[in-house]
Amino acid sequence: MHFDDMPIGDAYLTHEAVQAVLERQDNLCAGCGTPLDAVSTYFDLRQPVIRGGPHTLGNLAALCPSCHLNHMRRIRGEFADHRNK
Ligand SMILES: [Zn+2]
Repeated sequence: MHFDDMPIGDAYLTHEAVQAVLERQDNLCAGCGTPLDAVSTYFDLRQPVIRGGPHTLGNLAALCPSCHLNHMRRIRGEFADHRNK
């Protein structure tokens, strides 16, 4: 099985998953290219599952804190209509 097709655990990322994503990105933020450090790296789904994104490693991106915030804000904005569920 290709690594990108590996399912992501619901509760946590395995050490292997984290390493694979960081390696793919050369330890750089997927958003802005800033070097990532271990304590402040966020792992986000590039395509949210709610929007049909696969729950796999290939859909995972490592982001710096500021890109993580922007990512969350953007997704929240896209789903503003669904906020009062
Ligand atoms: Zn960034």
